Order: sequence, then structure tokens, then C-alpha cells
Amino acid sequence: MLKTKDILDEKDKRLRTISKEVEFPLTKEDKELIHTMINYLHDSQIDELAEKYDLRPGMGLSAIQLGVAKRYFVVVNEIDEGEFETYVLINPKMISSSVEKIYVEMGEGCLSVNRPVDGIVPRYARCTMEAYDMEGRKIHVRAREELAICFQHELDHLNGILFTDHIDKKDPFKDKDQMRPI
Ligand code: ZN
Repeated sequence: MLKTKDILDEKDKRLRTISKEVEFPLTKEDKELIHTMINYLHDSQIDELAEKYDLRPGMGLSAIQLGVAKRYFVVVNEIDEGEFETYVLINPKMISSSVEKIYVEMGEGCLSVNRPVDGIVPRYARCTMEAYDMEGRKIHVRAREELAICFQHELDHLNGILFTDHIDKKDPFKDKDQMRPI
């Protein structure tokens, strides 16, 4: 079972790796890791389980956060109380995005960043990802609002980018008026 301490911290240089494309069929190890990631994200969003296993809540994880430099990420999105939808995106590319930009008003978070970070991370309000599923079939996923932010955040991880990189160091709330808070 994956624990919060197994997730690489922002100080770990491996998070700066540009992850490599995945070949199909997936290896047994990759399949197992994906299921482990799904379980963590699911359990971490259920209060009793998060408390019992001391899991920091999160909705997205990329393989590199577990030290595996391969281009895939998992998102478990709570759509209703206790009801989740799961996305596994392998070799993802963003093929379209909205003109409109948004940001998380409370500040974006990351399972690899264990401190509060103030500032605006500009994200597209809507985006479409092209990727492959676990069986190697091409998929298109459209996302908006929080889910869209999550996809962009995870795609960044595959390119060695952390959300903190997007925050203007001198003026963390720069261009606030040009974006919609969510
Ligand atoms: Zn992250």
C-alpha cells in the first residue's frame, strides 16, 4: 500500500526529470503501480481511510512522483459524495485549450509540496487531452474547471514542472484580474 511518505518531495531532483513515453503493452510493474496510485487517491479522499492510514488527500498523481520516469498519470475525481471517476492517461498530450484562464483561489496543492504556497497558477479553464488507456487505445478526454487544472498540473509533472514554477516570484498575484478564481 502506498503511503504519503513514499511520494517524492519537491526537493527531490527526480521530480525535474522529463519522463519518457510508455510502450505498449504495459509491463506488469506499470499496471501494478497504476492500481496502487488509484487506490491511494481514492482512499485519501475518504476521510475515515485517510485518517486511518495517514494519507494526505489528493486527486492526481504522476508516475514520476513515485520515482518512475514514465509518461502517465492518474486522476481520481470525486463527482458526488463518495462517488469517484478515475482517469488513467498514458502518453498524454494537450490538443486544445480555452482562451479563458482560471486559478485556484485557495492556492494549488500537490502531494509533493508539503507547505502552503500562495500565489496564482494560471491554467486553462477547459482543455482536451489525447492519451492512451491501459490497453493502448487512443482516448480523448475533455475537462473543465478543477479537473482541467488537475490534468494540466499532472501533465506538467511529466515535463519536470511543479506548480510553484508558474507563480511569479516577485508578484505572486500578478494578472489576477485577467483570470477567474475557482
Ligand atoms: Zn503535483
